[in-house]
Amino acid sequence: ATMPPLLSAIANAGRHGVLVKSAVVMERLGQVDAVALDKTGTLTEGTPRVTDLRPFAGVRLTEAASVAGTASALGDASATGTASATGTVSPMRDASVTEAASIAKGASVSGDAPATETSLLSEDALLTLAAAAEHPSEHPLARAIVAAARDRGLTLPEARDFTSAPGVGVTATVDGRTVAVGAPVRLLKGAADARPPAGAADAWSDEAATAVEQLEHGGRTAVLVTLDGVPAGVLGIADRPRRDASATVAALTALTGNPPMLITGDNPRAAARLAAETGIEPAAVRAGLLPEDKVTAVAEQERAGRKVLVIGDGVNDAPALAAAHTGIAMGRAGSDLALETADAVIVRDELATVPAVVALSRRARSLVV
Ligand code: ADP
Ligand code: MG
Repeated sequence: ATMPPLLSAIANAGRHGVLVKSAVVMERLGQVDAVALDKTGTLTEGTPRVTDLRPFAGVRLTEAASVAGTASALGDASATGTASATGTVSPMRDASVTEAASIAKGASVSGDAPATETSLLSEDALLTLAAAAEHPSEHPLARAIVAAARDRGLTLPEARDFTSAPGVGVTATVDGRTVAVGAPVRLLKGAADARPPAGAADAWSDEAATAVEQLEHGGRTAVLVTLDGVPAGVLGIADRPRRDASATVAALTALTGNPPMLITGDNPRAAARLAAETGIEPAAVRAGLLPEDKVTAVAEQERAGRKVLVIGDGVNDAPALAAAHTGIAMGRAGSDLALETADAVIVRDELATVPAVVALSRRARSLVV
């Protein structure tokens, strides 16, 4: 017997590296006339790298400011009593946070003078705290932060009470301190439409605002780290567009007759830069979205009579993947929730398979009577 067209199309899609979960999905794929793409992990490679470490001056690693004598950990600096208060604590390869704290104590002590701790957070200490808190997370940014810590040979203390908020970030208890890592605007209490997690800050320092502004202006994803609710530092993270991102955007535009939308939780500047790099129209960019905002963006399109194909990888994409006419998840690095929720999964990690599969569906549909 000859295979029904939709079933052979599923087999064909499989050869392209796309797992289509049912004949119904195979049929629906050919109906889409609008596309919404997630940014991080979907239009980008999803293997971001930490490019900047900016610990803030004046952040305390320990509460104990009155340390008698000089800690030997600081070596020459403490011995001479000239430890700088401007963040030039010696680098701490392999330092755990506890070790970092003892170095910090040493740095604060100058002879018999009363100890006042000022700039105590080194780049390595900041990265150690962030990576420890991110360790349990499967988010691409979390993996980047943990990888950066590994690259520096840092030992990560264990994190307890880990929680993650999709589109926001993570919080955990590290060495008795509440560490939050995530989108700067979401880690600020009282920020418009924020839903601050534990560890959110009451206010930004000028230093935090400036660092975030500078990094985002440079097209980075700025990730804020707070320590017990106090902004402690910012990490800059960069990701590259996938090699086939532009070609896919162009092919999807041609296939659907509509320019694809970019729907992302990342900041507007990083989103705009990626849109420019991949041929997405500025007007089609929606940034700073929480998971439910992605659903709203898709629903608006569908109310306008379009059948929207959502492509995403994260837990934060799952509601939009479910709400859309059709949802496709990135398989290689996609979250389990996205894979389960989506109607189809890109197994071979090539975005360009999407227009190919839409075309396959249309051909199969034309054969179904
Ligand atoms: P996208 O929609 O582009 O895939 P997400 O919605 O997953 O991005 O994340 C949006 C923003 O939330 C990120 O740019 C980041 O600032 C923050 N964020 C989310 N999860 C994490 C995490 N695990 N660690 C740090 N930041 C996070
Ligand atoms: Mg994503």
